[in-house]
Amino acid sequence: MNLQSLVRSNIWNLTPYSSARDEFKGKADVFLDANENPFNTGLNRYPDPLQWQLKRKIAGIKNIPAEQIFLGNGSDEVIDLLFRIFCEPQQDHIIILPPTYGMYQVSADIAAVQVKKIPLTSSFQPNVSAIREAAGEHSKILFLCSPNNPTGNAIDQEMILEILQFFPGIVAVDEAYIDFSGKPGCMSLLSGHPNLVVFQTFSKAWGLAALRLGMAFASPEIIGFFNKVKAPYNLNQLTQEMALSLLDQLDQTQQMVTTILSQRALLAAALPNIPYVQKVYPSDANFLLVKMDQPNEVYKQLVEQGIIVRNRSNVVLCEGCLRITVGTEQENRRLLEAMERQNL
Ligand SMILES: *Cc1c(COP(=O)(O)O)cnc(C)c1O
Repeated sequence: MNLQSLVRSNIWNLTPYSSARDEFKGKADVFLDANENPFNTGLNRYPDPLQWQLKRKIAGIKNIPAEQIFLGNGSDEVIDLLFRIFCEPQQDHIIILPPTYGMYQVSADIAAVQVKKIPLTSSFQPNVSAIREAAGEHSKILFLCSPNNPTGNAIDQEMILEILQFFPGIVAVDEAYIDFSGKPGCMSLLSGHPNLVVFQTFSKAWGLAALRLGMAFASPEIIGFFNKVKAPYNLNQLTQEMALSLLDQLDQTQQMVTTILSQRALLAAALPNIPYVQKVYPSDANFLLVKMDQPNEVYKQLVEQGIIVRNRSNVVLCEGCLRITVGTEQENRRLLEAMERQNL
C-alpha cells in the first residue's frame, strides 16, 4: 500500500497548527507561553494535546504501542477524521455494507463523498465478491462494523482477512461492541496490514457514553495524520482525568459486561416464547435484533408503557425487526412483561 496515494494531497502537505505546548518540550515551572490565566481554577492550563498519559495507560491494557493510538471525542470524531484525511469531496467514494451504523452515511454526506452500498448477505456477512468488483482507485474507505449494528453479529475474521488482501483503500473496522463478543477482533491484524484502522469506544462496555471518548488503532503513520488534522485540544482535561481514574477499575467494567451478557442470554431465551416473536438473531453485542409480527404496533404499545426500543423494521434485511438493548434485570423483566401483555 502506498499511503501517499490514499491521503488527500492537501492533508499530505498540511503544516499543522503548532500550539505553545507543542513547541516547548523541556522542563519549566513558569508558563508564560500560552496566554493562559495564571490563577489556579483547576482547569486554567491547556490539556496535553496528544493525551500521552492516557494513551500509555490504554496501550498497556490493549497491548499496543501508544504511538498507534488516537483518542477522539467519541467514535464520531474518528469517523469524521477518516473522511477528512482520505476522501476528496465529489471525487472519492466509500463502501458500506447495509444494514449498518448510520453515521458512516451521514459523515459521507457532510463530506460530500459518494457512498457505494453493498448489502450484507442474508446471513449478515459481507458479500466479498461484490466488494471486490466495486473496489477501485477511488475507493478510499470500507467500513466494516463488527459486531454489526443493528444485526448484532460479528463479521467472519476469515472474510476480513480476505478483504484486507485486495481492498485498495483503508479498511476501517468499527469494534464498538467487541467487548461483548468474546471474539478476538482485529487489533492483532494491525501489524501485517498497513491499510487497517480499528476503532473502539468507551460508550458501550465501559459505560461512559456521556464522556465522549473513542479510540482508533492504526500504523504510526496513519495515527500521525489523525494528529495532524484533529483540533489541537480535542480531548478536554476532565475527560482525560476521568478516563485515567476509571481505567484503574477494570474489574468493575468486566463485572458490568458479565452481567449484561447473562441478561442477554436470559432475554434471548425468553423472547421466543412470546407468540408473535418469529426470531431472535444471535448477538455478539449488547442488544438483540428481534423479528416479529406487527413490529410497528409492538413498538407503539411499548412506547405507551414508557419502554423505548429501536424500530428497525423499515431497514433493509431487518424487515419486521426491533432492536432491543439489554438493560438491567429489572428493565428486561419490565420489557418482557410488557411484550407478553400486548394485544395484537
Ligand atoms: C454506539 C456505536 C458507536 C459509538 O459511538 P461514540 O461516538 O463513540 O459514542 C460507534 N459505532 C457503532 C456501530 C455504534 O453502534
